Amino acid sequence: MKNYDAIIFDLDGVITKTALVHAASWKKMFDEYLKLREQRDSELFKEFTHENDYLPYVDGKPRYKGVQSFLESRNINIDFGDPKDSPDQETVCGLGNKKNFKFKKILEEKGAQVFEPAVAFVKDLKANGVHIGMASSSKNARLILQKTGLEDFFETCVDGVVSAELGLKGKPEGDIFTTACKNVGCTPDRAVVIEDAVSGVQAGKNGKFALVIGVAREGNDKDLKENGADVVINSFEGVTAQTVNQWMEK
Ligand SMILES: [Mg+2]
Repeated sequence: MKNYDAIIFDLDGVITKTALVHAASWKKMFDEYLKLREQRDSELFKEFTHENDYLPYVDGKPRYKGVQSFLESRNINIDFGDPKDSPDQETVCGLGNKKNFKFKKILEEKGAQVFEPAVAFVKDLKANGVHIGMASSSKNARLILQKTGLEDFFETCVDGVVSAELGLKGKPEGDIFTTACKNVGCTPDRAVVIEDAVSGVQAGKNGKFALVIGVAREGNDKDLKENGADVVINSFEGVTAQTVNQWMEK
């Protein structure tokens, strides 16, 4: 491809349908917690919704950052705690761990489903010699990739575990994308980011990538465009290595 050398993918919602599993486990965890506050502290219960809570505060962010950002939006202050906190502790980490516990349970039960056109696109990139990397906030990204059998296509996987080890800032900072890009031997000015979350397209923009492609799985085309996506698609149907090359010429 003459216009780019590498593509760095987000995982959840771009390659795999796990975004729905994440969203469902976040909702379950937060609604239980808000219910507890209603019963114990007589706070009015206001349901955690996809539109008003998940998409703006949680989607795409590292686990504890997602917890913090939602709680702040509801003026709830609790201790940050420690990543080793049990899922029953009332701390930011405890709540995040409870969400993860629910997520893994669903993943074990139902496996990880993929978007087939996205897989076809990844294979076409490989056939055209494009370097492929993964940048995900999820600490489960490697486990999910293994479950899909796609692990060998990705030359690097900068996930939540690697981020914590290297002290990388999460999305919307560009760090995990630029790190993945470096790991595949390329520079952002010759590379593309593909993301489905607002925080992710912002990260692509902040990382100064040559092209940011937003994948609007939920009709949120406008949000992705306004936050840094140069191109927005709804599916990878018909998208090839060559299509991306053409987009970059515009
Ligand atoms: Mg995503």
